[in-house]
Order: sequence, then C-alpha cells, then structure tokens
Amino acid sequence: MDITVFLGAPGSGKGTQAKILAKDRGYQHLSTGDILRAAIAAQTSVGLKAKKFLDEGNLVPDDVMIELIDKTLGDLPGSSKILLDGFPRTVAQANALDASTRTRVTRSIFFEVPSNLLMERLTGRRICSKCGQPFHVVFRPPAQNGVCDVCQGPLLQRPDDTESVVKRRLEVFEEQNQPLLNFYQNTQRLQKLNANVPVDTLQTELVKALH
Ligand SMILES: [Zn+2]
Repeated sequence: MDITVFLGAPGSGKGTQAKILAKDRGYQHLSTGDILRAAIAAQTSVGLKAKKFLDEGNLVPDDVMIELIDKTLGDLPGSSKILLDGFPRTVAQANALDASTRTRVTRSIFFEVPSNLLMERLTGRRICSKCGQPFHVVFRPPAQNGVCDVCQGPLLQRPDDTESVVKRRLEVFEEQNQPLLNFYQNTQRLQKLNANVPVDTLQTELVKALH
C-alpha cells in the first residue's frame, strides 16, 4: 500500500490539494475526522471505543486511532493510494504507524508556507452566517463589503480565525510539527513543497513529488 502523510499548518492548503488528488487521480483522502465519523456511523467495535472517549470530552488515544486507521486501510484494496491528513501529529503516533506493515508510511509531504502569510490567509476568512459560503477579505472579497454574494446574509469571522487564536494555533502546530519533520527527514521520507504558489502550480509539483 502506498501511504503518504500530508503535513502542513492550518491554512497551508493541504486539504484542498488532497481533495483534488482524490477527485482527479484516484487517491483515498483519509482525514482523522472522516475516519472517526465513518467508524462511529458503522458502529464497529473500535468505532464505539473511540466514541466513548469523544462523548466524555476526551481525545481518542493513540492506540485506538492506530487501530482505527489499520482497520480502515485493511478494508481497502492493497493497490490503494492513501493520503493521510491530520495524522500522525506526534512522533509516537508516527512510530506506531510504522510498526505495522500495513500502515507503514511510504513518504511525507510538508506544505511549507511562511507564518506571516498563514496569518493573512486565516485571519482574512469570513463566513456567511446564513448560508455558510466562505469569503476572504483579500483573496475572495464579496462584491459588497461584509455581505454575502449568494444570499445577502451578513459575513462573520469565526472565533477560531481571530488574530490571537490563529497565532496560538500556529504556535501549537509549529511545536508539534518540527519533531515530525525531523522524524521523516531522518528516515529519508520527507519532501518539502513551497505551498505559497497558486493551487494549480502546487498540484503539479505535488504530483511530481508523489512519483
Ligand atoms: Zn450567504
């Protein structure tokens, strides 16, 4: 099985790239949230185990997450090309994935964007409070300031996207990500892409990196 781990800060565009690969090139895009939701909906034994932690307001422990991913991959054909998004987040998780032949990671790709640009991308987001349509004050401004193009509803900034929260989110990401970069670098499985380029350009570079 070909397993690629996507590493990148919030706002780095890795989710968008994964979706394009899934739609156009037959990749399976597995985000932690999707895996959890699917297992809980299917009421598998490991899904119910995970649900218990979530219901109690706790994080799903590593061993349960690994079991979930292992089970999810086991249900896919051996020829599948997997994009893991949002997992592993720690070196312990990365080691645990590698411990099983089925979940051993083939490569990792880091979507590199300077943090000042991530700040601009994330704090500029606005969401229509009525229909949920996303906008951006710089990159995708509405025709009329603060008003949704689709339904005329008022645009709001999510609490997660305010400057102080974004700054903290990026700091937390940085702290967690650096050891992972070192881990995959040391095992010759890290490729870095400059993700501060247009979506199409990044997709072309990404496809090259995956071969
Ligand atoms: Zn709207």
